[in-house]
Amino acid sequence: MKKYSAFSLVKESFNNHLGWEKAWKKSNPKKNYKIIIVGAGGHGLATAYYLGKNFGIKDVAVLEKGWLGGGNTGRNTTIIRSNYLQEESAAIYEKSRLLYETLSQELNYNVMFSPRGVMMLCQTEHELRAMKRTCHANRIYGVDTIMISPARMKEMIPIINIKGPRYPILGGLWQPRGGTARHDAVAWGYARAISSWGVDIIENCEVIGIKKNKNKISSVQTTKGDISCEKMCFVVAGNSSVMAELCGFRLPVESVALQALVSEPIKPVMNCVVMANTVHGYMSQSDKGEMVIGGGADGYNNYSQRGSFQHIEETVRALIETFPFISRLRQLRQWGGIVDMTGDRSPIISKTPVDNIYLNCGWGTGGFKAIPGSGWATAELVAKGEPGELAAPFSLERFKEGRMIDESVAAAVAH
Ligand SMILES: Cc1cc2nc3c(=O)[nH]c(=O)nc-3n(C[C@H](O)[C@H](O)[C@H](O)COP(=O)(O)OP(=O)(O)OC[C@H]3O[C@@H](n4cnc5c(N)ncnc54)[C@H](O)[C@@H]3O)c2cc1C
Repeated sequence: MKKYSAFSLVKESFNNHLGWEKAWKKSNPKKNYKIIIVGAGGHGLATAYYLGKNFGIKDVAVLEKGWLGGGNTGRNTTIIRSNYLQEESAAIYEKSRLLYETLSQELNYNVMFSPRGVMMLCQTEHELRAMKRTCHANRIYGVDTIMISPARMKEMIPIINIKGPRYPILGGLWQPRGGTARHDAVAWGYARAISSWGVDIIENCEVIGIKKNKNKISSVQTTKGDISCEKMCFVVAGNSSVMAELCGFRLPVESVALQALVSEPIKPVMNCVVMANTVHGYMSQSDKGEMVIGGGADGYNNYSQRGSFQHIEETVRALIETFPFISRLRQLRQWGGIVDMTGDRSPIISKTPVDNIYLNCGWGTGGFKAIPGSGWATAELVAKGEPGELAAPFSLERFKEGRMIDESVAAAVAH
C-alpha cells in the first residue's frame, strides 16, 4: 500500500495523479475463511481491523450486501462524544473517542477528526439537574466534561438565543474534546488498511442463509455462493433482527428510520456541535458550510431509508426558537437510515445461542462515535470467544437478567 504523504502527493502530481492505487481491492469470495464478518459498515470494518492489529488474524472476509459504508455509517451526522451517564457506556465510548484522536495517523488516512467540542443544552430545570448528575458521573469515570452557564454559552456560541420564551437556556454540559469526523473516511480508512493485509472485502454479496452443523455454523449462504468459516460475526445495524432470524434466534431490537437534513452552505457561524435533548434536535456546521441537522426517529418500526416532510418540520420547529437564523436557510437534502434500537438504548456485543456466531448491534441513533471502540471490543470477543472488559456488560444475557444499561436520555433524538 502506498503511503499517503505530502511527498507522495507532490510526486504523483508530476504523473497527472495516474499512479494512485485503488484504496481497497474488489475481491471475489474464496471457499473458506477463518472468520466471516457480515456488514461492511464502520463497526464491521473496524472489527476486521482490530482482529488483524491486536490478534494477528487476517484470514477474514467482510461481506456486504450493498456498497461499503452505504448503511448508517454513510448516513449519520458524525457526532463523537463520550459524555454518557452509565459507567459501562462511558468506558466504551471514551475508549472510542481516544482512538479517534489518533486514527488518521494510525490508518494513514485523513478521517478529519475535529474535536471542536460538544455542547448539550439544558432547557428545563429537570434537564439541568440531570446534566449535572451526568457531569459528576463523567468526572468519576475520567471523562472530561464541565457545566457551562448561559452567559458563558452565549460567548462561546454567539448565534444562540438563550432567552427563548418556551425553552430558555439554563446551562449546558460541555465536552471540549468531543466533535465530529468524516463518516465515509472512517469506513474507507479501515477498508484500505485491512485490504492491504489481504482481508477480502466483498461488496454486492448478501448473506441469505446459514448452514449449521449441530449448534455451530459451518458455512454462510450468499448471493455469490456458499462460503465456509470457523466463526461468523454479524454487524448489520438496522438488519440485525433479519440476520438473527436466518441464524435461528430472536433479538430484543426494533428497526426504525432515523432522519437528518443539511442546509445550503453558509459562512462559518458555529464552531461546535450543539445538542438540544429536550426539544429533540441537534446541529453542527460541516467543513463545506452546510448546517447539519439531526432529527427524530420514526415512531413506528420500518425499513425505510428515506426522509419524510413530517420530520423536517418537527426538527426545524424544535430548533428555531434557540437558533432563529435557521428560519432563513434553504434545505439542500435530507435522508434516512435504519437504526436498531434496544430497550435500554445500549448496544449488544455478544456471543449468541449459536456457538461460533457473534453479534454486534443495537447502537441505535449513536453508533458512529463508537466505531473504533466497538471494533476493538468485538475483535477481542471474536478472537478469544469470550468478551473482554469493554464488551462484557453489553451481552445478550443482560436482557434475561434485567441488568439494563439505561441510556434512554443520552441522545438528542426522540426514541
Ligand atoms: C440519520 C442518522 C444520524 C445519525 N447520527 C449519528 C451521530 O451523529 N453520531 C453517532 O455516533 N451515531 C449516529 N448515528 C448512528 C450511526 O450511524 C450508526 O449507529 C452506525 O453507523 C452503525 O454502524 P454499523 O457499522 O453498525 O452499521 P451500518 O453502517 O448500517 O452497516 C451495516 C451494513 O450491513 C449490511 N448488511 C445488512 N444486511 C446484510 C446482509 N444480509 N448481508 C450482507 N450485508 C448486510 C448493510 O448493507 C450495511 O452496509 C446516526 C444514524 C442515522 C441514520
